[in-house]
Parts: sequence; C-alpha cells; structure tokens
Amino acid sequence: MITRRHLMKTGAALGVTTVLPFGARAAANGGDIFATTSSEITIHPISHASFVMRTPAGVIYVDPVGEVAAYGDMPAPDLIMITHEHGDHYNAETLAGIAGDTAPLVTNPAVYGMLAADLQARAQQLANGDSTTFGDLAIDAIPAYNITPERMNFHPQGRDNGYVLSIDGFRTYVSGDTEDIPEMRALENIDLAFVSMNLPFTMDAAAAADAVREFGPSYVYPYHYRGRDDGTQDPAEFAALVGDAAEVKMGGWY
Ligand code: ZN
Ligand code: ZN
Repeated sequence: MITRRHLMKTGAALGVTTVLPFGARAAANGGDIFATTSSEITIHPISHASFVMRTPAGVIYVDPVGEVAAYGDMPAPDLIMITHEHGDHYNAETLAGIAGDTAPLVTNPAVYGMLAADLQARAQQLANGDSTTFGDLAIDAIPAYNITPERMNFHPQGRDNGYVLSIDGFRTYVSGDTEDIPEMRALENIDLAFVSMNLPFTMDAAAAADAVREFGPSYVYPYHYRGRDDGTQDPAEFAALVGDAAEVKMGGWY
C-alpha cells in the first residue's frame, strides 16, 4: 500500500543524495541514520532501553542508565528524556555522571519528584497527554501501562510515559514500558518506533508485532526484550510477525 506519507518520504529522499532508497543507512559507529525532510537523525543503541539520538535539535539521551563509560563515545546530551522510574530507565548515579551542567530533562511526574535538586531545577515534568517543545523538536507524552491484570502493578495506568518526538517531518515513538495499549495502536504517521517487549513486565513479541502492524511505523526497533526467567522475547520472531508492515531494525542492545 502506498500512503501519502510514503510518497512524501520518497520525494524527500530524492533530494538528498546520501540517502539510500529506503531512507536509512548504517552509521559508522554502529548506529543507524534516518533521513528526515531536510536533515537526518542518527540512533545509537546503548543497552536494553537506553539510546542516544542525534537530531537537528541536538543530542537526546533517552532513559540513560548503566555505566557512564558506556556513553563515552557519544556527544554530550542537549536533552535527557526519562520514561519512568524503574532501574532500567532511570538511575540517579548515571544521570549525575552524564547530565553535565545545562542539559534540560523531560520526565514523567514520578521521576521528576525523585530527581536531585540540581537536575530537578532544569527538568520539566510531562504527564500522559502533555506536550512541550525543545527547539524545533515537539514532544508529546504518550501513556505507557500494563493491561494484563497480573502485570498491572508493574506499570499502572497514568504514571509512566512513552514519547512521540517530532522534528523536520520525522516522528519517532518511544514506547517506554507498556503493553499493546489502544493509545499505541492509534498512533499515526510514525516514521520510527521503539517498541518494548519482555515478560512479565511488558508484553510478548506477538502482542508487540500485532500493535506494530496496526499503527504501521516505517521503521521499528524491537528493544527492551530481555526479561525475567523465560520472559526474554526473540526479536527475530517479532520481525517475522511484523512482516511487511514495517522495516524492522535490529539494534545492538545487548
Ligand atoms: Zn518499567
Ligand atoms: Zn523496563
């Protein structure tokens, strides 16, 4: 199916000589580069749920946790975004090590309340449905929560965020920790998606793929797919289930 969005993307790509036909190419240091209308976005997976995104608005660290040294090859952040309070998404020591003196933070309200005073002073809290901007980047906070009864204590509805980041005609969805909620399935015009999958905390690969087939991003990274006990999900299984609904990108998450 050719959608208006794909036509626009093709048209944009024709004017940029460095872009391959599908609008994405590998970055020199292990990331992926995606063409926006007039520029590009580079994704550097760090680990599990943490990644660095280079955008025309600056360098964004998403859910930075783990050893500070893991970010040593990355440019300093211009913006730090946090989805929720769990240790694989928010870590005070990592933040202290990477945040520098000026980069603002965008977090959900619960994490805002946990931030060290110096970080909180330059942070903005977004509840589900709230929006803000960072330069030319538009940020929308999307709900992220469990819907399976025995999992609802992990991510209760209304507390945690996913995000849609829009800049230069390119929209990126970061799921955070969630199941295949209606708000995800209703997303429109997503160019690049990061979709979590693991058990018992989020969802299995089949549920994630089913949601992706419904909202149809151009590209999707399965991420956050190692789980407890046998809860790890197979990104190859996810890719097979997504089929031709999106181009699946495999990041070096682990
Ligand atoms: Zn979580
Ligand atoms: Zn998590």
